[in-house]
Amino acid sequence: MPTLAYSIRNTLYLNITNRCSNNCSFCIKFNSRTFHENDLFLDTEPSFDDIMAAIATFRDFDEVVFCGYGESLIRLEMVKQVAEAVKLNYCTPVRINTDGQANLVHGRNIIPELTGRVDCLSVSLNAPDAETYMRLCHSPFGAAGFTAVCDFIRLAAAEIPEVIASAVLVPGLDVEACKALALSLGASFRKRSYYAG
Ligand code: SF4
Repeated sequence: MPTLAYSIRNTLYLNITNRCSNNCSFCIKFNSRTFHENDLFLDTEPSFDDIMAAIATFRDFDEVVFCGYGESLIRLEMVKQVAEAVKLNYCTPVRINTDGQANLVHGRNIIPELTGRVDCLSVSLNAPDAETYMRLCHSPFGAAGFTAVCDFIRLAAAEIPEVIASAVLVPGLDVEACKALALSLGASFRKRSYYAG
């Protein structure tokens, strides 16, 4: 039975799609259909009621994070609807872990639509330059993908309370250059573990 919501410590994670706007070489979904013993391969994308019902089976979480085996912001309207309902019913902060490609996917700046609904964006920067980004993340948008993720971080930092740019610690990556870029875009920086396949 696929998992729609799973908890790690006091954080509740939502797995609402397997579609993604990147194709990262290090993505754990290419090596395992489970994460922390949860089957994150979805048969179908869950409805609003499915997601809220999954959330309701948990107690004692203090943050809700959109993060599964796909890019949640592809389902932008669903994210907005669920984020609003979470704030209304549970009064917890909402975070989205994202690849930062949503403005290309939707053809407009979607950051204002997240303002007031989302407290934190954790954006996968993953590279200090377009060439490295393409090699690691295989953006279907080509070089525009790296430009888009940088623009997304910069726009978000001006509107969302907390914006974190992250990088997976792939061997050989210039992590300090990633950090410098993140800071120059107005975000904080976080390293993420690399799981070799
Ligand atoms: S953006 Fe995330 S879910 Fe999508 S391929 Fe990359 S690591 Fe996997």
